[in-house]
Amino acid sequence: LNEILLLSGGIDSSALAAWRRPAQTLVIDYGQVSAAGEITAAQAVASELGLPVAVLRANCSAVGSGLLAGAAPDPAAPVEEWWPFRNQLLVTLAAAWALPRGLTNVVVGSVAGDGRHADGTVAFYDQLDILTAAQEGAVRVSVPAIGMTSGELVERSGISDSVLAWTHSCHRGPVACGDCPGCNKRRGVLHDLRRLV
Ligand SMILES: [Zn+2]
Repeated sequence: LNEILLLSGGIDSSALAAWRRPAQTLVIDYGQVSAAGEITAAQAVASELGLPVAVLRANCSAVGSGLLAGAAPDPAAPVEEWWPFRNQLLVTLAAAWALPRGLTNVVVGSVAGDGRHADGTVAFYDQLDILTAAQEGAVRVSVPAIGMTSGELVERSGISDSVLAWTHSCHRGPVACGDCPGCNKRRGVLHDLRRLV
């Protein structure tokens, strides 16, 4: 399917990697404060799953805001971790990296609960798919788990505890702070599923 999966090393994209087994995974350092932790986690997850992983570095911190930028949220921010146009930015970077390598399907691990910001919704990804498909190379964008909760995705994926243990979701830094939206979500999902307990 020529799929390239955006792998952040968090629960959702890691479960999607286990489920879809894409031809390629890609972790992007876009200047987020959690980049080092995401790269370490993504590399460990991909290694455990036997999938290729590449690291793309494109520092966009000059246009970031909110928790992931280690800065105050933008006045338009719907949640404190919101980074303006982040998913559009990441899909664009992934598509640009993928196209010359013959990969024409960008897969993103957004789930149902990500609709707290507009760029985590079905409507957004439908538009983004149309936008990339309309351009040279006709790259497509898909979000296979957008109708599932994180818990449903983890169960459907069959991801093992040994892979799950490597996931990292902190929005604050390379070491899990234990008290940010990313850490709290990860803990809640694992608790509800009685995994890694
Ligand atoms: Zn955290």
